[in-house]
Amino acid sequence: MNPIIGVIGLGNMGRNMAATLVGKGFSVIGFDLSDTARQQAEKQGIVPANHLDDIARQCSVVILSLPKAEHVEAVCLGDNGLIKQLTSGTIVIDTTTSIPEMSRKIANAFAPQGIEFIDAPVSGGPAGAAAGTMSMVIGGKLDTYHLVLPILEAMSSVRVHVGDVGAGNIAKIANNMLAAAHLITTSEALTLAEKAGVDPSKVLEAINAGSGRSGASQAMFPTWVMNKAYDSGFTMGLMRKDVGLAKALAQNLELNLPMTMKTAELWQQSAAVLPDSDDFCCIAQCTNPSLFAKETK
Ligand code: NAD
Repeated sequence: MNPIIGVIGLGNMGRNMAATLVGKGFSVIGFDLSDTARQQAEKQGIVPANHLDDIARQCSVVILSLPKAEHVEAVCLGDNGLIKQLTSGTIVIDTTTSIPEMSRKIANAFAPQGIEFIDAPVSGGPAGAAAGTMSMVIGGKLDTYHLVLPILEAMSSVRVHVGDVGAGNIAKIANNMLAAAHLITTSEALTLAEKAGVDPSKVLEAINAGSGRSGASQAMFPTWVMNKAYDSGFTMGLMRKDVGLAKALAQNLELNLPMTMKTAELWQQSAAVLPDSDDFCCIAQCTNPSLFAKETK
């Protein structure tokens, strides 16, 4: 029999992941601090829980989709957190892009109680979450990973088990540092083309047929930048968090990674003109405000 799955955090990602699981026949209950998020989730077929303990009482698998590591810590280890409520054998899958050390801290705290924890951050945005086509990078024990594989398969089309707990977040931070850098370098390349008198759309097409292509040039620019849609569902604030995590990891490891540091600096500086709530693709506007301006409605 399928377990009842609890989803904690019903925002852009969590709500869509939960709806995908419902659509594939899983029983899902969801919790969020926000009434609006719970109401929206209910409209998508997710049974809303009023309290965290409703999830803990009913679910043997709990998926977290929270903004930051500090929220994961509060939900897992805080007063009345999951550690006080979950029973032995429960598996917690954390899809938040979080801090590897936090994943290890929580897994170690859960272990004596027989609660398993894996970090499984995701790529693919709200659209991928809604379609069940995300990619997931997973850190944790292999046998725990295999126990929840049918659930992960329902949510994603690609999964890479990277290593022990925390390894998923290290892979995700490395990935997002590249995505953050590629957004800026692609903006610069297209600015170079425009200022040299060549159509930037044509140059983007050329880049995507050449060796300079990336996820930014192939997916982000065509889908959210060149058409001025800026509606990816991933915010400047969350990407600033992720580049901050990359910078902190490099500093903790005492590494000399100048491109990582420059990328983090540019994303932090952009806060002066782009609020956290803006779409993350708006970073292109810092390179070239006129070429990448939002559509005026
Ligand atoms: P979001 O802000 O839309 O949703 C987070 C939700 O968590 C909110 O509804 C908030 O009310 C809820 N929440 C916060 N603290 C809580 C608590 N203590 N208990 C219950 N609910 C709580 O964020 P999102 O875009 O869904 O992103 C979630 C995570 O996924 C982030 O770590 C983000 O970096 C990562 N991510 C996002 C995307 C994307 O495109 N949006 C893509 C990949 C990864």
